[in-house]
Amino acid sequence: MIKRPFFGLGTPRLKYPVIDIDIADTIREIPLPQKVTLLLSPDIRIEDLILKAGDSVKTGQKLKLLDDGNAYLISTVTGTIAEISEYTGYLGRIYPAVSIDAAGEDQWDDEFNETGKTPNPENALAFFNYLPGNPDFTTLSSVQSAINTIIINGLDSDLLVTTNQFVVKTETGRLTEGIEYLKKITRASRIFIIVPPDSAALAEKTGVPVYAVNPVYPNTLPQIIMKNISGTEVLPGNSCEDMGVGFINAEAVVSLTMAFSEGKIPVDKILTVINKDYVPETVRARIGTPVKDVFKALDIDTAHGDQIIFGGPMTGTAVYSEDMPVSPNTDAVMIQDSARITLGSDNQCINCGECVRACPAGVPVNMLVRLLENGLYEEAAEQYDLLSCIECGLCSYVCIARIPVFHYIMLGKYEFGRVKSAEEPNA
Ligand code: SF4
Ligand code: SF4
Repeated sequence: MIKRPFFGLGTPRLKYPVIDIDIADTIREIPLPQKVTLLLSPDIRIEDLILKAGDSVKTGQKLKLLDDGNAYLISTVTGTIAEISEYTGYLGRIYPAVSIDAAGEDQWDDEFNETGKTPNPENALAFFNYLPGNPDFTTLSSVQSAINTIIINGLDSDLLVTTNQFVVKTETGRLTEGIEYLKKITRASRIFIIVPPDSAALAEKTGVPVYAVNPVYPNTLPQIIMKNISGTEVLPGNSCEDMGVGFINAEAVVSLTMAFSEGKIPVDKILTVINKDYVPETVRARIGTPVKDVFKALDIDTAHGDQIIFGGPMTGTAVYSEDMPVSPNTDAVMIQDSARITLGSDNQCINCGECVRACPAGVPVNMLVRLLENGLYEEAAEQYDLLSCIECGLCSYVCIARIPVFHYIMLGKYEFGRVKSAEEPNA
């Protein structure tokens, strides 16, 4: 496998938004919907689920999913399971989806309050896999964990998205408390936080080292953070976790405070909604709320041909139903007016080299895309650095032929991973 220099020379200077402290305390509350839909991991097969329609559930209740193993879901409302169905998501992956008719008023389940309120790694693993902000405690807290450093992200990974920045600016007290819980429930010896420069003084109140990150895209992607802060390069095919560094969003840290101090597992997600004029607004919605309910509450009209994107403009993914729910990892939802959509195309690459100049990982994108277009995923990995890609989306952004390069790359990585898994012994 080839390894090329990590930083390209021609990365466009796209800036993350920095929110004003005066407007940071405004958040819109989205009403509780009549029905929530909770998406499960695509690794779980719907036929193996032990949940069934008609089951009654309470808010914050831990719902065991399978006869064997520890897989579970946290119900985000009180009500009755209406349906278990399948949702086809990005790259054609099938997600089991549990829909719950909400009774209207929350009755809180008390298992966590009675048995899980001691902050330790075991309770993090047992109760926090569906927490707002989507922390991965399997990686951060398990006995096998090799994570020795945790970086709290007080910025968001995509442009126009301000969710974690909002949390740092409005929840500094709970963030500080959450960091103390984080120390108890993980095995890391070092924790620090990254924020935009204007939040550095505020973040210093948390008591952990603060790194001010120049808010220029893609400086908040994990591999770039590691390179800029510690000078460590993540080698192709490896993750930051492989190198002992774990990441967690500021929102997830605040969720720890809410859970341990109140005895309730948080079920509301903060997200940035970017409207058709590209104006972001911060909202709080129950996890599982269909995006159409979010739009309705914000008086955002949708019309045929508009595009709904989960995530930000650089790396977000289009969804094809307004029933798509807010999930623990939904930091942003964007709606694009049909008149403003720049559609991808099946144009041929004209070898202009813009993508190569823009790529911060030094990937020969112009060559890579040729193989990916033809489904040659293993060759793409072995000959043209597919696995060095850090998933920033800049190649798509600059492509004058409007080739959806980023999505070819994501598909290529996914298919390459499937081939490698199938080749593993006993796979
Ligand atoms: S998404 Fe494109 S520009 Fe970004 S690292 Fe991957 S190949 Fe390079
Ligand atoms: S920017 Fe687009 S057209 Fe230009 S070399 Fe890259 S893939 Fe080809």
